[in-house]
Amino acid sequence: MARRGRFAPTPSGLLHIGNAFAAAAAWLQMRQSGGEIALRMEDIDKARARPAFAEQILDDLRWLGLDWDEGPREGGPHAPYVQSRREAMYEEALEQLKEEGRLYPCYCSRSDLASLASAPHGLASEGAAYPGFCRGLTAEERKIKAADKTPSQRFVMPEGAIAFEDGWLGPQLFEGAALGDFVVKRADGMFSYQLAVTVDDATMGITDVLRGADLLDSTPRQLALYRALGLKAPEFAHLPLLADADGVRLSKRDKSLTLASLREGGVAPERLLGLLAAMAGWIDRPEPVELRELVPLFAPVRGQRLVFGKDLRSWLFKQ
Ligand code: GLU
Repeated sequence: MARRGRFAPTPSGLLHIGNAFAAAAAWLQMRQSGGEIALRMEDIDKARARPAFAEQILDDLRWLGLDWDEGPREGGPHAPYVQSRREAMYEEALEQLKEEGRLYPCYCSRSDLASLASAPHGLASEGAAYPGFCRGLTAEERKIKAADKTPSQRFVMPEGAIAFEDGWLGPQLFEGAALGDFVVKRADGMFSYQLAVTVDDATMGITDVLRGADLLDSTPRQLALYRALGLKAPEFAHLPLLADADGVRLSKRDKSLTLASLREGGVAPERLLGLLAAMAGWIDRPEPVELRELVPLFAPVRGQRLVFGKDLRSWLFKQ
């Protein structure tokens, strides 16, 4: 069976070079192993997703030299490749979890949870672990709370170790309960990233998930969902995030580092790829390269951060 990878951009902003690194790595992993790639637009958060960003992201990825076998414009055997059109599948999974007693209604508001401390390492994809306030409510208490509030639905994280072998970072060990019960459907009806991405990767037959290390602690949560839903989990690997010299993550907010602005500023895609490849260690020093030249050179990149310092920045912008 062919391996299947994916890239899953969120159209709530423009792609920045960190996203480009993740997309290029997922592409290289599949092209090196003769696998297939699907592109899935993760527009589940309707309040933040914009169709114009989705279009721009597809164009930016093409500009970089990426192609994909299945996607929103191309279609494919697992269509639709747009999360906002896959809600019936998420609802079905939610029902299954509910029937199996794996969910409970949560009436906590954002302000109830605001004072909880976030994980110290700064890589927490879910924010602070939920301490389980609503888990033990009696039926009577739920009835009273339900009278003036629509609840969110939380998934009960199992007790005990969740271990997995990260293809790039090596053995990983998490304590399930310490991650906290997480929301699978919000009070406003929106399905969570964790549920949507698990259902999608499973139903799209994805065998290899390669994504940024910011999502490392989402993996044990998703593994718990795979188990609860009786689905086969893919292999996971997490690639280092790009950070500046002070260790601050390059974020979407740094407008000069979006693909759109690099392109407008006349930076060639080969130059951006050469920069990323040098940071990853696929080539010895930055020099312009095409994506296909990197196929035989692609290899795992270890660690959780790569430093994008001033020297690299000035090389990138040198005409
Ligand atoms: N949509 C997510 C993002 O843009 C990626 C999800 C994933 O790769 O699992 O950060």
